Amino acid sequence: MLKNLKYMKVIDPDPTSLILEKIRIAEELFTDWGEYFYKDKEFLEKLKEYEKAIKVSNKIMEELGTFEECYNCSVIDNTGCCKIGLENEVTINILLINMFLNVKIPKEREVPGRCFFVGPTGCKIFARPYLCREYFCNRLMRLFSPEEYALVTQKISEELTLLYLINRYIRNELEFLLGDFLLELELTGYS
Ligand code: SF4
Ligand code: SF4
Repeated sequence: MLKNLKYMKVIDPDPTSLILEKIRIAEELFTDWGEYFYKDKEFLEKLKEYEKAIKVSNKIMEELGTFEECYNCSVIDNTGCCKIGLENEVTINILLINMFLNVKIPKEREVPGRCFFVGPTGCKIFARPYLCREYFCNRLMRLFSPEEYALVTQKISEELTLLYLINRYIRNELEFLLGDFLLELELTGYS
């Protein structure tokens, strides 16, 4: 029996516990400090700007057909790159930002063998990590003309610059409030 359990662990390593721990910490921070941040005008402005930037990038990607291509790749062809483990690109800070944007955070992995945040039609979170936003595989690259590629990468880099700024803002505020031991706010779990 023990032998079997050990074997299962080896063939089915599931990094779920790390992301669940990050979600727990983000929820705790949100409960304790959400109101504090919502009263902060500078924070709200940054949040709005970032939300707008995501919508702009999403609109361009939608028009260029990337979401449809990713749906076909992931759901129809059952390939896709949102693999198990990649959820840990989502840091505590990114979870917090999603909470500030009223995004419902999943409590469990819906699709076995896939990223914790994958749902039936794609990624379930709105504010997504750097890696997920700046990755364009060959299958997607075939959709773009050079001008379209330049446009989409420009918009994504505007979005990710805002993500960096809002990340830094939250981190500085929380370090000021709670002490500088909170560096794990940006932990991915790979390094
Ligand atoms: S980015 Fe590429 S590999 Fe990943 S799901 Fe989309 S089409 Fe598939
Ligand atoms: S895009 Fe979403 S579902 Fe895909 S790897 Fe990133 S966080 Fe996970």
